[in-house]
Amino acid sequence: MISVAEAIQIVRQQTHTLPVEQISLPHALGRVLAQDIVADSDLPPFDRSQMDGYAVRAVDAQAAPVRLRIVGESAAGKGWHNQLDEGQAVRIMTGAPVPAGADSVQQIELTHELKDGTVVELLESVEEGKSIVKRGAEIRAGETVLSAGTMINAAMMAVLAAFGYATVNVFQRPRVGVLATGTELVAVDQKPGQDQIRDSNNYSIAAYAELAGGVIERFPLTGDDTSLLKNQIAKAAETCDLIVTSGGVSMGVYDLTKSALKQLDAEIFFERVALRPGKPTVFARLPSGTLMFGLPGNPVSVAVTFNLFARTAALAMQGATEPALKRETAALARSVKGTADRESYLPVQLTTNDDGELIAFPLKWGGSSDFVAFALTTALAIVPAGAKTVEAGSLVNVLRLP
Ligand code: AMP
Ligand code: MG
Repeated sequence: MISVAEAIQIVRQQTHTLPVEQISLPHALGRVLAQDIVADSDLPPFDRSQMDGYAVRAVDAQAAPVRLRIVGESAAGKGWHNQLDEGQAVRIMTGAPVPAGADSVQQIELTHELKDGTVVELLESVEEGKSIVKRGAEIRAGETVLSAGTMINAAMMAVLAAFGYATVNVFQRPRVGVLATGTELVAVDQKPGQDQIRDSNNYSIAAYAELAGGVIERFPLTGDDTSLLKNQIAKAAETCDLIVTSGGVSMGVYDLTKSALKQLDAEIFFERVALRPGKPTVFARLPSGTLMFGLPGNPVSVAVTFNLFARTAALAMQGATEPALKRETAALARSVKGTADRESYLPVQLTTNDDGELIAFPLKWGGSSDFVAFALTTALAIVPAGAKTVEAGSLVNVLRLP
């Protein structure tokens, strides 16, 4: 049995990045950059006014209140491109270029215009440099603003647009085949008969995979039938980069996923992880090169093992710099129990207390089959192997769930 950390390490070693593709900017959200993003211009590209008001020479406003002659107007997109001289002011708007000769902008609230707009009175003096963002103060042309391996979020879309990236190079999204085993399973639109339940794992797996950038391909339910399972895995391997199955990996007579993998000549990297829930997780590569995770059937085990391992693989395939979930630290609100020989990943809700500390509330749950309680989970708290009881108030590592 290997540790969770070792298993994640193996996943990263065995996962290779997919080819790069060029896409148009509107499709870039959620994709992982395959290139550094470089500023093609200074930002701001000119000395920019931060306020509506008057561009002036600070020295002229020293003895405020003073009156200055209005010699022009500088609007966003339509600047005033002359030299401002002693005793002069230019009416200026937010986002407009500051004219040469001016060194400060007095905000409109501290002024009023006289004589039909030919003169402005400044009610207060103004510091040199006030309300002006100098050319290049934010970014210099040639600077790297986003690095390859970054997943593009909504705010980054603005960065890409501002520097003219109408198209952008990203890693291809992995095609993820989703496949559930179990003779007890019926489809969501069926009423379960005697001894049957609806398949729910395929829906959480597909959803988590989509959040990790995957393109989902769904395969029919296979029951617990080795040859059917084998055929479906082989079929999925023809088109998918990654296959995620659920069920059929424990020690029961009808746990057939591993024998199907062996018959398909798959290379199995691990089949037991010192983890609760999720010990019997299988990671393998099929002869086609397709990677496969055989996750346990219990829905909570599915959520935990998908996010620890399959998510990491999906993001590593897309070249993400940090494919694994990041550890944070939180204080336990209640005591929890550990497991002798395995790390536990317990469902918790994260909140902050009045002192701003991160607090993990362990959920009352009925074990790894309790997917209804798990639906309220926002994170997993990690309890080290061998810990008998971890007391309330203790600090533990937590992983926020996507
Ligand atoms: P297994 O790992 O195949 O022994 O399954 C463990 C438990 O998870 C059993 O109670 C199964 O009925 C349940 N289970 C397996 N697959 C699914 C699925 N796709 N959706 C919901 N529950 C499942
Ligand atoms: Mg089963």
